[in-house]
Formats: sequence, C-alpha cells, structure tokens
Amino acid sequence: MATEESDSVLTARDFQSPQINDWCAGCGDHGILRSLENALAALRRSPDEVAVFGGIGCSGKTPYYLNSYGIHTLHGRLLPFAAGAKLSNPDLTVIAIGGDGDGLSIGAGHFVNAGRRNLDMTYILYNNGVYGLTKGQGSPTLRQGEQTKSMATSNLQAHVNPLLLALTAGFTWVGRGYAYDVKSLSQLIVEAVRHPGIAFLDVLQPCPVYNDLHTRGWYGERIYSLQDEDYDPLIADAGEEEGNRKKLEQSLVRAQEWGERIPLGIFLQDLTKPLFLEQIADRQPGYMNTPPASRAIADDAGRTLADMRRLFAELEV
Ligand code: SF4
Ligand code: MG
Repeated sequence: MATEESDSVLTARDFQSPQINDWCAGCGDHGILRSLENALAALRRSPDEVAVFGGIGCSGKTPYYLNSYGIHTLHGRLLPFAAGAKLSNPDLTVIAIGGDGDGLSIGAGHFVNAGRRNLDMTYILYNNGVYGLTKGQGSPTLRQGEQTKSMATSNLQAHVNPLLLALTAGFTWVGRGYAYDVKSLSQLIVEAVRHPGIAFLDVLQPCPVYNDLHTRGWYGERIYSLQDEDYDPLIADAGEEEGNRKKLEQSLVRAQEWGERIPLGIFLQDLTKPLFLEQIADRQPGYMNTPPASRAIADDAGRTLADMRRLFAELEV
C-alpha cells in the first residue's frame, strides 16, 4: 500500500542537503540527485517521511546529498536494510540507491530476492558500466569485448542485463531513465514511488571520467521513449491471461534492445500481484496498526523491555 501524499507544499529545495558534493563535474549522478529532489517534492513527501539507503560506490554518497533520512549501508547490502525499514515502519517512503557494481555483483542475490517480495519500495540503479569509486574497472553491465579508457584490456565477461533480471525476478514495476534528462527522470521516479509494490528503475548514468564509450553523445543518438510509441506496460486485470502474457513478453523483448536504439520509460507495471505488507497483515492482524517501529523497546529509565529470561528459557536444552 502506497503511503499517502501529505497536504504540505514543498519544493525541490527542501530536499537539498548542505553537505559538500564531491561527485565529478559532468557526472550523471548530479542529474539523478536533481531528479530525486524534484520527485520527492512532487510526491509531497516531507524529508522526515523519506528514508534513502545507499550502498558503496559513488552512488552510495546520495543519502548524504539529500535532505531526508539517509543510511549509508554495506557493499551490495542496501536492499535488506531498506526492506527492514519498510517492514518496521510501513509509513516511510523507502528508496534504495546503488551502483551497477554494487547491485549486480556482490548484491545480485539480494536484487533477485527483493523481486520475490512485492514490498512497497523503490530501487534505483546508477548504471555507468564501471566501478567509478575505485578508478573505473569494468562493472557487470559492461558488455563483453568493450574497453573503456580506464581498462588495460577489453572485458572478457558477459554482461548482466538489469532490466531482464528485474522482470524475471518478479519486480512489479520496471523502468529505465537517463540521468541527463532530469524532467523525464523526475517523472519516472514519481511513478516508481507511487507504485504500490516493488519498483526497479535502471538509470543510464554517464561517468565521463572513466567510461568514454557510453557518453552523452553516444546515448543522445540512441535513446527513445517507449511511451512515445504508445507502448502499454500496464497489467491491471489478472483475468486477462493472454493479454498479460503478451505484455510480459513485450517487456522482455524491449529490455534486450540495445545498440542502435535504447528504450527508456516504463517496461512493465503489474498491479495484480499480492502486496507483501497486505500478506503480512493477513497473517498478523493488527500489524499495520502497531508495526515494529511503533512499539516501545525500553522503559522510561532506558532499560530494555525485551524479556531475556524468556528468550534464554526457550533456548535451554
Ligand atoms: Fe561520477 Fe564517474 Fe566521477 Fe564517480 S568517478 S563521481 S561515477 S564521474
Ligand atoms: Mg558503476
């Protein structure tokens, strides 16, 4: 269930942080940050209603640069942290942010398993084909045979397609944006956050310092919007089995389009899958009224309310 949008009127400026930003000039990360600020203002969230989780890498600094709750987690582990926060406090708007190296190598297991739970949160992947923070080694989205200026030899490994992985893992909203198109990316983030289940947004994010292959000029000649072609990603009626299968198939085909033409936009939105928090509430009536974050953990003197004697008694053999 999506969190309600409040009546307060905020602007993108309310989400700007006073922290010094040390991303390189011209980095696509700046466009993603602007888009996040715009989107959160458009969603009428207030900063204390938003929690942003970062992994490790250039993208992992985003929580510092955004005025909201911000949590810098471990390499590849941002999704479990984000899921825990959403389960504990379902009122929070939870956004997980990580790079392609973070999410598709060490974090790939968490990525796939996040798709199995239709939990209401958004995962944004900063996809630049390199490990920018550690001087530009090839990341899992760099294609076999490609060689950026930061690599001594060409890439021997096959790439991972994050859109295909998300679609087949079960993410119920899957989209792709472009870091330099702030207007469209802001709107995509709004749509992803409004989606009531688990959303994945792949963002093509040029790294001008280390990746001289996938540049502004290169993308500019290739990107196009699915929605400009009357592409319909929406699955809203579980009974429409044949039509729904075709929508999934078209998303799988478009997700593999790369080279001459690169699609942006919403590939699939499936509103027919059970929502994870509703499943939990069915199993534990009252969960949504008293989720873990609302429960006291200590008395007035700061002593824990956890009954350790009972716990140890249960463990006794
Ligand atoms: Fe951006 Fe690349 Fe610089 Fe990292 S190294 S801040 S990804 S331009
Ligand atoms: Mg990267």
